[in-house]
Amino acid sequence: MPRHIVCLSFDFDALSLPIARGTVTPTAMSRGEFGTVAAPRLVDLLGAHGIRGSWFVPGHTLETFPEICRAIHQAGHEIGHHGWRHIAPASLDRAGEEAELTRANEAIRKLTGRFARGYRSPAWDLSPHTVELLLAHGFDYDSSMMGHDYLPYFAREGDQYPADQPAVLGRPTNLLEMPISWSLDDYPHFEFQIFKRGVLPGLQTADGVLRNWSDDFDYLTEILDWGILTYTFHPFVIGRGHRMKMLDRLIRHLKARGAVFLTMEEAAVEARGRLEGRRAAAE
Ligand SMILES: [Zn+2]
Repeated sequence: MPRHIVCLSFDFDALSLPIARGTVTPTAMSRGEFGTVAAPRLVDLLGAHGIRGSWFVPGHTLETFPEICRAIHQAGHEIGHHGWRHIAPASLDRAGEEAELTRANEAIRKLTGRFARGYRSPAWDLSPHTVELLLAHGFDYDSSMMGHDYLPYFAREGDQYPADQPAVLGRPTNLLEMPISWSLDDYPHFEFQIFKRGVLPGLQTADGVLRNWSDDFDYLTEILDWGILTYTFHPFVIGRGHRMKMLDRLIRHLKARGAVFLTMEEAAVEARGRLEGRRAAAE
């Protein structure tokens, strides 16, 4: 019997993103603040559909907007790790990265009573230390890499990429990777942003993006009997009216095609069971 799993994930950056970028003018900050308007709407939409999602919430958001975050948790959603300051691990040294991990994990434990099972790196840019640190801090899964579209895999450690020699792939670890993609992320499709070095045009028609996102699920059902598709949303991006209506239509399409909605933590347990079963069968 085919089983096609969908994870709806939400990176609740709020004010942490403009602060991390150093753009703290009132208007830039208000863009992030809109996420606090949108988050309760998303909780309502998911509740109406009977879906529990996975919210990756920076420690900064947890401690600045505790009541909104408590409501997300109390509605049954998973709270995952997304740094404390929303700084990409690749831009930190090992000690700085570990300090972020510890501080944000404490904030998550304060809210939920336990440490996060899953990690999603700010800006999706892991450092060479991240896999080892996540394992040392007891994480079950990461969701920051793009090495597959539908099948989780064990993250490797120790890859080497000499410029003039074949790459040497390291050993798979026990950290499960729940892969993501920019093509399944609302931010590049919708967010208009002027940077020092260019412009992110965004502002795409929601129906066009809906077609892309629906087709990615439909293709999964055509080629695999089992797989997981993970969508990534940001409340301050997806929370605009035409995008909320599109998200509702997407969920209806996925339901009509038989999607099984799980939190990423639940999906990771299922994926790990399959991978470990296969590993044991091969031994
Ligand atoms: Zn983020």
